[in-house]
Amino acid sequence: MTDRALDLLVIGAGPGGYVAAIRAAQLGFRTAVVDEHPAAGGVCLRVGCIPSKALLESSQRLVAARSELAAHGGVAGEIGLDLPAMMMRKDRVVTTLTRGVSSLLKKNGIEHIQGRARLGGVDGELREIVVTASDGEQTVQARNVIVATGSRPATLPDVELDGDRIGTSTEALAYDAVPERLVVIGAGYIGLELGAVWNRLGSDVIVLEYLDRILPGADAEIAAAAEKIFRRQGLDIRLGCRVLDAKVTSDGKACVVEVEGTEAIECDRVLVAVGRQPISDDLGLEEAAVGVDDSGIIQVDERFATSVPGIFAIGDVIGGPQLAHKAEEEGMACVEGIAGRYVHIDYDAIPGVVYTEPEVASVGKTEEQLKEAGTPYRKGTFPFRAIGRARATGSLEGFVKILAHAETDAVLGVHILGSHAGDLIAEAVAAISFGASAEDLFRTSHAHPTLAEAIKEAALAVHGRAVHM
Ligand code: FAD
Ligand code: NAD
Repeated sequence: MTDRALDLLVIGAGPGGYVAAIRAAQLGFRTAVVDEHPAAGGVCLRVGCIPSKALLESSQRLVAARSELAAHGGVAGEIGLDLPAMMMRKDRVVTTLTRGVSSLLKKNGIEHIQGRARLGGVDGELREIVVTASDGEQTVQARNVIVATGSRPATLPDVELDGDRIGTSTEALAYDAVPERLVVIGAGYIGLELGAVWNRLGSDVIVLEYLDRILPGADAEIAAAAEKIFRRQGLDIRLGCRVLDAKVTSDGKACVVEVEGTEAIECDRVLVAVGRQPISDDLGLEEAAVGVDDSGIIQVDERFATSVPGIFAIGDVIGGPQLAHKAEEEGMACVEGIAGRYVHIDYDAIPGVVYTEPEVASVGKTEEQLKEAGTPYRKGTFPFRAIGRARATGSLEGFVKILAHAETDAVLGVHILGSHAGDLIAEAVAAISFGASAEDLFRTSHAHPTLAEAIKEAALAVHGRAVHM
């Protein structure tokens, strides 16, 4: 493609890669992105964040129409499900957004090369990257390379994925019928979000979790409260379950999941949601002497530089929280670093959101982390049921929990279980980013009536002076 070398080639057009490419183009770098998929946007847009949120929204609207409309005075007949229409809407949302990313790349003068990339040789200061596509192979030369190849679903040794009935999130985003009984392995982000979708659409959903709690890594008090609500909604969550194997029966009619110490479970489909692993194989990293750990995570320093000058890595492939916005921050910071600018990411200010209903959102330290570190803290909580807006909307479940340093009052962690928690957490992210105190939060005016008033009240509660409780 090139008659002269690129300043930057990004491998992977996911949220890490395409944002890095756009920032590079803004800084005047001659940039290209290579991705093996024709659609830009990576896992997030194609088979991750976006399609899952589209289905979560559609399925929740169905639940609301069936079980909440009457209380609001709405009168409707029986509300059925048109699954193909729901899936078509989800696909349209995905296509609109992937096309949007393609046009952003084009607008910024970034070439989008389709093909599978592999690091090749070195030519002076230039790195060669071999791109293989269905119509042949080409070699691209670039001064800098960012590896943003993301991750793929992990599986268990004796679970035979068949790409259909025993599958991962990718299959569960596109089932062609509602499974009568769905077994989900893993009560993390994917298990709970996609478990919720199919539970709302009518499946009996059994969630098998190895640990004695859901959402490992989340604040334990929030996770326990969320678990109670999800159980009430119909998820059959079974904790402390070690899955031994899962396979389709020989007659092909069902799946069987073997769990240590209990009877085997028969079901129509199995969703394996036990984490994701970095994509760092078959990239020529070893030959190029790029450091990769035993689990495939590319090793980088605080500027996202690998062990080889000119090769950088960002996003899911370097470990840490596997979140789209974390990949984006890294993409932006990495390019600014290549341009000689200041690089800093505060990983304590990266929020996490589980888009169930209610949502689970958090930023900063959990109470368990503060206890373990021996950090003195004060805690303020406030329930949404005491908030006027929550009464008006009917979304009463959940609470806000703020953890602040006992001496400095600095906000160290905010954890929210509630409707729109994923939007509400933005205020807490800003507070932590700017080193705000709980007092700063409660001295900030919050519009009435809004759900955000629960944050103000929880900040007041840190000082033992909540008003509406
Ligand atoms: P990716 O998005 O994985 O993109 C990597 C790209 O690299 C891919 O397009 C791949 O085709 C390409 N690639 C790989 N190897 C090569 C190669 N050799 N040559 C060329 N191209 C290559 N995160 C959130 O923050 N919020 C959410 O709501 C959310 N929901 C999710 C739901 C699901 C079901 C899943 C699976 C994930 C979800 N995530 C969510 C996680 C999020 O998708 C990832 O953290 C994010 O996509 C990582 O971005 P990335 O740029 O590192 O890589
Ligand atoms: P996860 O790490 O969130 O959860 C995996 C769960 O599986 C854990 O609870 C773990 O204890 C459990 N587990 C592991 N081995 C098991 C076994 N043998 N038997 C039973 N349970 C077992 O991983 P995920 O849900 O697969 O999601 C992958 C990643 O994708 C997430 O870590 C997250 O970063 C990202 N994601 C984010 C969002 C979001 O931001 N809303 C949504 C989906 C996915």
